[in-house]
Amino acid sequence: MKLIKRDLQRYSRQILIDRFGEKGQLKLKSSTVGILGCGGLGSAVSIYLTAAGVGKLIIADSDVVDITNLNRQVTHYEYDVENKRNKAVSEQEKLSAFNSDIKIETYTKNVNEKNVDEVFRKTDLIVDCLDNFEDRYMLNSYCVRAGKPLIHAAVYGFYGQITTIIPKKTACLKCIFPSPPPQIKVFPIIGVTTGLFGILEASEAIKYLTGVGNYLFNEMMLIDLSENEINKIRTERDKNCPICSS
Ligand SMILES: [Zn+2]
Repeated sequence: MKLIKRDLQRYSRQILIDRFGEKGQLKLKSSTVGILGCGGLGSAVSIYLTAAGVGKLIIADSDVVDITNLNRQVTHYEYDVENKRNKAVSEQEKLSAFNSDIKIETYTKNVNEKNVDEVFRKTDLIVDCLDNFEDRYMLNSYCVRAGKPLIHAAVYGFYGQITTIIPKKTACLKCIFPSPPPQIKVFPIIGVTTGLFGILEASEAIKYLTGVGNYLFNEMMLIDLSENEINKIRTERDKNCPICSS
């Protein structure tokens, strides 16, 4: 794979970044990223990875766009609600109009333990854009099994958390959260929180894929936007973790 003239123009401003260069751009172009969930986090992750020139995205969501999604899920428009469109299909349309050079593959059925490998086998990295811990644990187990890096974020109201999981090197999701937080069916959330954390996830993905900068390695960043509080905590591998200990 090579960069073509259009790549050098389109991505010229990020190619200028120290240590990024054409090499970094080529790495992005050669990469495939899986995104599970095309909601608030998924919208932001997919827009910014598409903008940055990641060669291929595999986006998966079985849900249909609903009016209550539009305060935060910015790849879905009013006509997607009216036409009851699947979220992955709706998102693909916007991303392809934005950057026609990016290959976008959609998966519109529910992703579960049985089909997760079929959906994400070809990915270099997976981004958790889910809204529940049952599916997160499923995705975490798969990533540990398959040795794929997983970028995790979760949001609630004005609050969010993010970490990057490298199987067998950092704590996995089960090491950090041995039991799930209580699941709330309809939880409070505003678009600035999902937008910010989606962008942070995209940033982690870009840094991991290009090798530029440092990602959250055995660290979790917590941000409460309502108070402008930012914290980082250390995470540690659990030697007895049922998922990632051998
Ligand atoms: Zn673990």
